[in-house]
Amino acid sequence: MKKIIVIGGGAAGAKAASKAKRLNPQNHVELYCESENIAYSLCGLPYYIEGSVDKIEKLIIKTPKDFIEQGIQVFTKHTASEIYPEKNCILINGNHIFYDELILALGAKVEIPQIKNSDAKNIFTLRTLEDGIKIKEKMLISNSVLIMGAGYVGIELTEAFVKHGLNVKLVEINERIAHDFDEDFSKVIQKIIANKCQNKLETYYGEKVVEFNTDENGGFRSAVTESGNEIFADFCVMAIGAKPCVEIAKNSGITLGTTGSIDVDNRMRTNITNIFACGDCAQKYSVITRQPTYIGLGTIANKEGRVAAINATSQEHYETFDGILKSTITRFFDYTISKTGLTMDEAVCNSNNINLEPVSATVVKKDKAGYMPGANEITLKLIADKRSGELLGAQSVGTGANVAQRINTITSALQSRLGVDDILHLDLPYAPPFSGSIDPVLTAAYKLKDIINK
Ligand SMILES: Cc1cc2nc3c(=O)[nH]c(=O)nc-3n(C[C@H](O)[C@H](O)[C@H](O)COP(=O)(O)OP(=O)(O)OC[C@H]3O[C@@H](n4cnc5c(N)ncnc54)[C@H](O)[C@@H]3O)c2cc1C
Repeated sequence: MKKIIVIGGGAAGAKAASKAKRLNPQNHVELYCESENIAYSLCGLPYYIEGSVDKIEKLIIKTPKDFIEQGIQVFTKHTASEIYPEKNCILINGNHIFYDELILALGAKVEIPQIKNSDAKNIFTLRTLEDGIKIKEKMLISNSVLIMGAGYVGIELTEAFVKHGLNVKLVEINERIAHDFDEDFSKVIQKIIANKCQNKLETYYGEKVVEFNTDENGGFRSAVTESGNEIFADFCVMAIGAKPCVEIAKNSGITLGTTGSIDVDNRMRTNITNIFACGDCAQKYSVITRQPTYIGLGTIANKEGRVAAINATSQEHYETFDGILKSTITRFFDYTISKTGLTMDEAVCNSNNINLEPVSATVVKKDKAGYMPGANEITLKLIADKRSGELLGAQSVGTGANVAQRINTITSALQSRLGVDDILHLDLPYAPPFSGSIDPVLTAAYKLKDIINK
């Protein structure tokens, strides 16, 4: 039996607490979180704003009462402020709490840019349940919105706001949308978004917001960009990503990694005995490059929370979490946009330190037999190392769930470190409603094999 203290009630912390209790019901598990709500789906917030999810309560996966019934003690509105590793003790709301094992699941926070009037009314971020409620309330009484940031959240919010009839002004500091895709893919995505939104969307790429102007009530009126553009809207959402919360860890001697998040090994252990970290506050490793990397994703947070709990409970029966592919997926109206592994840009960046010669092949194919009703185009790009033939990554966009099916296949191949030759022989199932007799994954692999052989 151990006393396990979990800090943070998001995906990682909630999973860690539940798992630690399930593994050994004798464990005394306490979950502390500075927010009032815990264990809800942040990922569902854009769909609550958009309307597919009609009630915010539906995003709550577990209430504090559910945890208590499971035998876990829950303390919301409790902030951990200092750790004393030499005493196995943490300061929470001024009280010293002792632990056998400590699991830090502190998440990430939006870092508001230090620019004029960034604290004005009607400038929102989307990182909590409360943020989602406020944005939806404001959206319902507005005609226009300025979204800062054209990453996943910016894209998902664009769909939500356009569906509600708002004029959307999308401002992105990079020259292109979804810049974690290769440029050719960003352009495909950009075109889809422009087509879907028509005159409801104005885009400002390569524009950095340098200040906000306010109205007579101190509310957001406009954003001014470095190039001198002044963009007006009824409200603004900063969808500019989030930084890992690491302050209390750093101040207590826990080592940060090169990505600025908490350095952990594959058992989610920090450099300090009995302290684990998981989720958006923790550093990750790329399955492909074996280098440190960082991305905040709910799916990873869940897996890491589970592994942290297993290893906090027992050292003999340990489990490892061996890295990530940065697989992501989103929906834009009827399109699916997804990727896994390295992009060509990332592969080129890594080409010296891990000795790669990256090549790629892109195919545009029907996602079902061409004669079937509803057959649509799917674009799929595969990236591989010319020297070893090893597969490095994939990007895909198209309508329906078929994109996910293809990227999931490649994800399994990447995780197993398969090469292009292995992909050529994958015995993928076929019937006309699901693909052509040669699946787009195989077609892309054939094309890539030709490029490798040149
Ligand atoms: C709008 C949006 C959409 C997303 N969509 C997706 C998606 O589709 N797919 C996907 O995989 N991921 C998605 N994500 C990312 C995903 O939600 C996060 O990766 C995930 O929630 C991280 O979980 P976490 O537990 O590490 O951190 P968090 O959920 O951030 O939880 C951390 C918790 O720790 C608490 N805390 C922090 N510091 C302290 C302290 N000192 N004391 C006490 N408590 C503290 C915080 O209050 C917070 O409740 C999305 C994120 C957002 C914002």
